[in-house]
Amino acid sequence: MKRGRVFSLLIGGIFCVALMSLYRMLEVMQKVEHRHPLDTHDQQADQDLSRLQQKIERLESLLSDNNRLVAMLRDSLLLQKPDGRVGGANISSGSAHNSAKPIPGCRLAEELKDGTDGVQLLDVYDLLPFDNPDGGAWKQGFEISYRGDEWDQQPLEVFLVPHSHNDPGWLKTFDDYYQDQTRHILDNMLTQLSLDDRKKMIWAEISYFSKWWNGIDEQKRAMVKRLVKAGQLELVTGGWVMPDEANSHYFALLDQLIEGHQWMQTHLGVKPSNGWAIDPFGHSPSMAYLLKGAGLRNMVVQRVHYAVKKHFARQQTLEFLWRQSWDSSPRSDITCHMMPFYSYDVPHTCGPNPAICCQFDFHRLAGRRVYCPWKIPPQPITEQNVQERALLLLDQYRQKSRLFRSPVLLVPLGDDFRYTESSEWEVQSTNYQKLFDYFEQHPELHVKARFGTLSDYFGALQRRLSSAGMSLPTLRGDFFTYADRDDHYWSGYFTSRPFYKRLDRVLEASLRATEILFSLTMAEIRRFHGDGLTAAGYPAREHFQKLTEARRNLALFQHHDAVTGTARDPVVIDYGNRLFHSLMNLRQVLQSSAHWLLLFDKSQYHHDQSEYFLQMDEEISAHDTLPQKKTITLSDKPRFLVIFNPTEQLRTSVINIVVDSLDAFVTNSETGRSLPVQVSAVWAEPNRASKTNFQLSFVAEIPPLALMVYHVTKAPAGSAPRTSYTVHRRGDSPTVHADNFQVSHLKASEVEAPVSLRNSHMEIWSSAETGLLQKLRLMSGLVRQLRVEFLWYGTRTRVNQDKSGAYLFLPGEEGAQPYSSSEAPLVRVSRGPIFSDITSYFRHFTHTVRLFHMEGHAGKSLEVSNLVDIRSENNRELVMRFVSDVANGNCFYSDLNGFQMQQRRTLAKLPLQANFYPMTSSAFLQDSTSRVTLLSAQSQGVASLRPGELELVLDRRLQQDDNRGLGQGVTDNKLTPSVYHLLLEDRRGGAQEVGGAAVQHLSLLAHLTSLALCHPPITMVTPSNSQLLKLSHFLPLGSSLPCDVHLLNMRTLDDVQEPGSPSQQVALFLHRKGFDCNSAPHPPPTCKWSAQDEVNLDDLFSPLRFRSIRRSSLTLLYDEEPNSARQQQPHDITRLRPMEISAFRVQMD
Ligand SMILES: [Zn+2]
Repeated sequence: MKRGRVFSLLIGGIFCVALMSLYRMLEVMQKVEHRHPLDTHDQQADQDLSRLQQKIERLESLLSDNNRLVAMLRDSLLLQKPDGRVGGANISSGSAHNSAKPIPGCRLAEELKDGTDGVQLLDVYDLLPFDNPDGGAWKQGFEISYRGDEWDQQPLEVFLVPHSHNDPGWLKTFDDYYQDQTRHILDNMLTQLSLDDRKKMIWAEISYFSKWWNGIDEQKRAMVKRLVKAGQLELVTGGWVMPDEANSHYFALLDQLIEGHQWMQTHLGVKPSNGWAIDPFGHSPSMAYLLKGAGLRNMVVQRVHYAVKKHFARQQTLEFLWRQSWDSSPRSDITCHMMPFYSYDVPHTCGPNPAICCQFDFHRLAGRRVYCPWKIPPQPITEQNVQERALLLLDQYRQKSRLFRSPVLLVPLGDDFRYTESSEWEVQSTNYQKLFDYFEQHPELHVKARFGTLSDYFGALQRRLSSAGMSLPTLRGDFFTYADRDDHYWSGYFTSRPFYKRLDRVLEASLRATEILFSLTMAEIRRFHGDGLTAAGYPAREHFQKLTEARRNLALFQHHDAVTGTARDPVVIDYGNRLFHSLMNLRQVLQSSAHWLLLFDKSQYHHDQSEYFLQMDEEISAHDTLPQKKTITLSDKPRFLVIFNPTEQLRTSVINIVVDSLDAFVTNSETGRSLPVQVSAVWAEPNRASKTNFQLSFVAEIPPLALMVYHVTKAPAGSAPRTSYTVHRRGDSPTVHADNFQVSHLKASEVEAPVSLRNSHMEIWSSAETGLLQKLRLMSGLVRQLRVEFLWYGTRTRVNQDKSGAYLFLPGEEGAQPYSSSEAPLVRVSRGPIFSDITSYFRHFTHTVRLFHMEGHAGKSLEVSNLVDIRSENNRELVMRFVSDVANGNCFYSDLNGFQMQQRRTLAKLPLQANFYPMTSSAFLQDSTSRVTLLSAQSQGVASLRPGELELVLDRRLQQDDNRGLGQGVTDNKLTPSVYHLLLEDRRGGAQEVGGAAVQHLSLLAHLTSLALCHPPITMVTPSNSQLLKLSHFLPLGSSLPCDVHLLNMRTLDDVQEPGSPSQQVALFLHRKGFDCNSAPHPPPTCKWSAQDEVNLDDLFSPLRFRSIRRSSLTLLYDEEPNSARQQQPHDITRLRPMEISAFRVQMD
């Protein structure tokens, strides 16, 4: 309370200072006018006028800042309630360090200091020798022994789980697999399971299951429901796909889970309990978090480094409670079963010896299509051989069982696309049934075996554990980077097909933006028209179907052969077309929704599919091309520009459009206030500017989730500030064609010194010769060497040596070689009032570093972008490396799915390729005084091979297959963009060690920067011939959300009564971020956060109103019971725990 008052006074103080500076500026301005009395000379008058105009603009901007301060002051006063109870968001614009009590996001790290129990995977990595000795029959393991009486008291209970792994696209497209295999597999499943209730099966991919469901009749659907109810068929995980866990962003991971779970609930009325992820190439705790949050109780994982599997097998920790690294409570625990052996096929699931297990895959009986590579074929089970066969199998079961703490055994029975023919069901079930019967008839063997599902297995496991009073060990950490054998590390797929990894995130951002705007539009329409939606003319159902299709296309792409870049070329094209198609459809929904929301007179709304009133300012012509800005023709008549801010924060953004005029001004359509602009050349070639098109940049301040309307108009010649250029190339002075711009060349004396750019937050120095960054200095005084280098990796060259491919990274022994080019790069330095940048044109890439001359967090980071083209190369991978003087030792941090940070240790005992990790959105290096954070807009592989270094793989072109079944190299490279923001921050205090590993988070500033990078503003424009309708801004929120609370999504739910139509219910997802409290940006980010876990959603989203709010599980399957006392209270206080995602089922008024 006292702190609050002091704080209010502080804001008051700032306000007064700002006001005084305003008056001071007025004074200065008057003096300027006195000094330059109006000249008779026209030019002089023009100049003065323009200067005056700029001053006025600056004053206006100052005024607007002051207005914001006043609003914040008012809010903070309002929220300091007299009884000391804080009703909701607690406003703070000060630094986190002022607080006496740690705020929730960073309190977390404090709490964790005591939570050091259990296994920490980083410690396991420190411990393991990674020596890969030959283990005998179990090559990567050890000899397993048993006495034989271990099961006398507690008989061995074996569950054989039939499964068929169906990739939604890999060697064939999703549709081709469905036609050729999947539909037959599901048809057979239905017949076979109905014939014999001892037969069971599990199924994971809802994308396939729902497609099959659409094609079967009601009678078959009823049979499916009966089988599910009887426990014969279990849908496991229930995601749309079995997603990749390295490259997928948590938005998409969750979204594909929601899509699958909602489908299951609507069509089958069931909820999944068990996860099944047998093929993703490494496993992430983010996935475990989402499954737990969705209500699942257990999960199975498979592709884990063979050395880790062996270690866990020895320790009997293959079953564990997987806990989030940041969680000090058991809240996030989920029971996880790790399969012990090499693969999920039958040879590697019955026990340690594949030559024996293969003989129990009866699909490989002589005369069938598949055989055993160990050259001992299966035998049909007969009366003569049943004893010998049963004992042989039991020996494998018993050995496998010794790796687990309970006598319950999970034995998957299946492979990729298995059970396509009913004969396969017959051979497997009749032969196994004979073995089961034999066990049954011989109680002295103490074994009971039968077909089962995961529910059967985990049910038995939990019963045995609890009756024995045993609990499973706790484990923290992740399972990257995966190796299946030798030094074959799967770190190549972190980068393979980077063009599509980028497109994935473009679609993801577009889907989120459209979901939110669609939900807001539906609420507005209801408010305007009542519940009768048809009155609006807004095609809600049609739009909802486009949204649904986009959700499913994004979901499909999270499959572990899609976003990973490990599918065949035609399949990649199929994915690309789906992403592109949905991107186009989402634009229509966005344009149409914005149109309705902005119209002052709603009766003027009409939906015309052939010509939208609003159009995107950029065009994409095909899935494999880059967006092109449309040229907006300007005249004296203003054109409408509409900008949507899809983030929950007020943002100051630089908007770039392409116009046909060298001079233009942009005004806010309501206030008439003109915005600062900068006109730059559009470079048709590195040294040739377009004579007809120009880039107009302006600074827009856009409130959270707002649609803002601007007017852009042709201006008198010479009125808009233009970018000036300095061009240099070593050896020759390049001719530059840019008549409308001031272009200079570096003088001989300037060539030796670095080129420098600065804004009010930092200064950077780059090499004049290459344009590449060398050093960075913050205005606080912190200086860091930060050199950008480009390098090549090649692959192994010796014959019979495995080489890099889509999955594997197997670099040549020489390591990375510096990028060199026979031709010196053309370096172009641009300087202007809004941004300045340095662009270098190398043969294989164009690299740009841009600095924004802006207050607020946009000016605090450096934008780094590349356009890469390595199509002329063979077996090469291009890497961008930052070399700094940060003393991070062998430790750095990279994110997991954009959800959390994970500490990484570069280990000399591991080969180079093992020290590469997935980076979905961020990585940082730090020492006691500073932190360098790199935020990315796409996923890629990252490493810190030496102290101070951070390197990212930009693209890879590989001519050969790497023997993981794909059967081709990766040679469909394209012109590929990548975008980053680089942040240098002051830091105090070291990392807090938890169980030997430090739990670290991004700083608030890094979170905000990442949000802005991943969710750029969306620019729309009206056609040149459209009449000027009256449009007004759409401002749904009164203020920004707290800066540690991310609005993950507002997703309109399907109507249960009328599937395919939007319901009035919206799934609202809020992710409260954990953040680092040791970074000390100066000045601190201006934002608010809640000092408590408890927040009031009505306050956060005011003036939006919720008719009902009900907390739910992450995929909306389990609604929390409404608390009757709370129900009466309209202002619902709800808890948002740091690091956690909270889901609510809401109805907006
Ligand atoms: Zn697969």
